[in-house]
Amino acid sequence: MNKIVIDGSWGEGGGQILRTSLTLSLLTKKTLQIHNIRSKRSSPGLKQQHLTALRAAAEISNAQVEGDFPGSQEVLFVPGEIKPGKYNFKITTAGSTTLVMQTIFMPLSAASRASQVSITGGTHVPWSPPYHYLEWQWIPWMARIGYPGTVELHQCGYYPAGGGRLSCAVLPAESIEPLQVTERSKLIQIRGISAASNLPRDIPNRQRLRFVSKLGPSYPLNDIRSAVLSGQGKGTFLTVLLEFEKTTACFTSLGEKGKRAEIVADELIKQVEEYLNTPGCVDAYLPDQLLIPLSFANGYSSIQTPKITLHLITNAEIIQQFLPVRFTIEGGIGKPGKVVISP
Ligand code: ATP
Repeated sequence: MNKIVIDGSWGEGGGQILRTSLTLSLLTKKTLQIHNIRSKRSSPGLKQQHLTALRAAAEISNAQVEGDFPGSQEVLFVPGEIKPGKYNFKITTAGSTTLVMQTIFMPLSAASRASQVSITGGTHVPWSPPYHYLEWQWIPWMARIGYPGTVELHQCGYYPAGGGRLSCAVLPAESIEPLQVTERSKLIQIRGISAASNLPRDIPNRQRLRFVSKLGPSYPLNDIRSAVLSGQGKGTFLTVLLEFEKTTACFTSLGEKGKRAEIVADELIKQVEEYLNTPGCVDAYLPDQLLIPLSFANGYSSIQTPKITLHLITNAEIIQQFLPVRFTIEGGIGKPGKVVISP
């Protein structure tokens, strides 16, 4: 069938259904008709982040699009040939630049030449991968699977001002290898960054100090740096990468107006300690973000996750509408579990 009809209200009923569908429409060259977009969100339909992802997907492939306006709940997307090149996309709000990047990364890597993409908007905003998650976690795992690329942060963008900028070099995909991530292995080190923009220097210092003084005695912390980064608007965050012998997990705590630096650190400590008490081999965000790439691997993959999420289940369902792949998800929502991807 050359047209796929997707119900955007399925499962999580959020923006991920649109982004996954766009990526797969581009990769399979199948026309996408999607309705009930983000119907389970309090303000349904396309917001600026989703609109930018849609327009970016259209621009890199000369696609024909209907329904690309704010609030639209139905879109028709007819993809064309993917054109590698140099692109600039702009989200006019603090909508997530990383989610837009993830939408077009694999389609661009299917081309025979490299691309260079720059995206303006939010880089450290709630409910999305923060920039450092992309750099430290997602990009290295994508390279491990066979999708090489590099990312760079030019300016931080926080809620509500946005205005941050990241760029990404997308290289042609190589041989796509499956992953077996079922053993956490020994913790080698925890590294990280405590950073702020347009706020007093002592804020990132205090976030760092709280994290280091509470976890330092029990864990191998190494290179948790405190930094002032250029950014639009005020914002602060603390991100750490847990490096095990065979795997990695990445966690972030974002600051907000009225939230003390110590609380930002305590929220991160809670995430790290809760994670270490599970059998999970990566953080709970990574599995849903690797389902599409692993659906193209030369063999089956399996990932032990600290938590089965509705995002994971939803993404698996949507991908199966486009590709002849089978997902087996063992475990209940909110509980540790395993996902097996059989292309
Ligand atoms: P909506 O506005 O419709 O809620 P959205 O477009 O912002 O949705 P979601 O459908 O909620 O997006 O998908 C968010 C994505 O961001 C998921 O892939 C999720 O795994 C990822 N994500 C959320 N928080 C983090 C985090 N702290 N670190 C890494 N990834 C994250």
